[in-house]
Amino acid sequence: MTAPPVLEVRDLTVRLPVRGSTAVPAVDGVSFSLSRGERLGLVGESGAGKSLTTLALPGLLPPGIEIGAGSSVRVEGEELVGASARRLRAIRGGSLAMVFQDPANALNPALTVGAQLREVLWLHRRLRGDAARNEALRLLDEVGLSEVDRVYGSPPHRLSGGMRQRACIAIALAGDPAVLVADEPTTALDVTVQARILELLVRLSEERRLSLLLVSHDLAVVARSCHRVAVLYAGRVVEEGPVDRVLVAPRHPYTAALLAARPRVEGPRAVPTPIAGSMPLPGRWPTGCRFHPRCPEALPPCRTAYPPLEGEGADRVACHLHSATRGAV
Ligand code: SF4
Repeated sequence: MTAPPVLEVRDLTVRLPVRGSTAVPAVDGVSFSLSRGERLGLVGESGAGKSLTTLALPGLLPPGIEIGAGSSVRVEGEELVGASARRLRAIRGGSLAMVFQDPANALNPALTVGAQLREVLWLHRRLRGDAARNEALRLLDEVGLSEVDRVYGSPPHRLSGGMRQRACIAIALAGDPAVLVADEPTTALDVTVQARILELLVRLSEERRLSLLLVSHDLAVVARSCHRVAVLYAGRVVEEGPVDRVLVAPRHPYTAALLAARPRVEGPRAVPTPIAGSMPLPGRWPTGCRFHPRCPEALPPCRTAYPPLEGEGADRVACHLHSATRGAV
């Protein structure tokens, strides 16, 4: 019998308010799941819906932005959509923890790292006093920080960018989560620091059997650290599958275009090929396949019929070129 997923997102819709009109979807029926210890990359250009998807999971959407009817987000079997504010506070930093892009903004500048760790340890594990201090020092050591006593007593501004992100990861681990959602966790860091933070996330995922949802615009980051990848375009998953299939032999023209557009330092085609046009804004999505105005392989039906996400298990693509119903469109 296969174990139930630790994180299960079904038909997630996120709607943006529009002045004087009805709200428009910016995330439109996104589904994916994560097993224990599995690492899934969520990729796509800016505006694809990656960050809104991740903010929706623990109920962190800004005021006015709503989760649509019929959406479901389950963490360890517990439904979060519609859960009380009190329950969501217990889950955030508990079974589901977040690491954000900019550690300088994520940390409280007025508190030492130790105080911020102790706060989470009290909130989620009822640790205080020496037990909290010892566990905080152990967590700082676990995320690869040296001089843990100094880091423990330092406010964030005394630490480098890489040290701050490690401190954020330690705080995220303090509640002993089952799922870690990391939204562009290396984008604000130097290249050498990026690689070390990625190695750390992979190590922690393996040692703790922690499920990792890694959001990134950088396919190389996902290729290095994830088992599976889901590609988002204009609010929908257009391709999903094992990293070594999707990033080696992409089936969706958008995934292929993302791969061709990434910067490379070697090989015969070192010059990246930019994707023509731009991501359509929510409320201005074209009919049919939303990628069709930019797609070099568009067929006449692509302008009118949205291709279903089809395939075997979690290896799926939404494109008429690969649709089982292709003959019908
Ligand atoms: Fe291109 Fe058509 Fe496939 Fe969309 S459905 S990606 S337009 S070929």
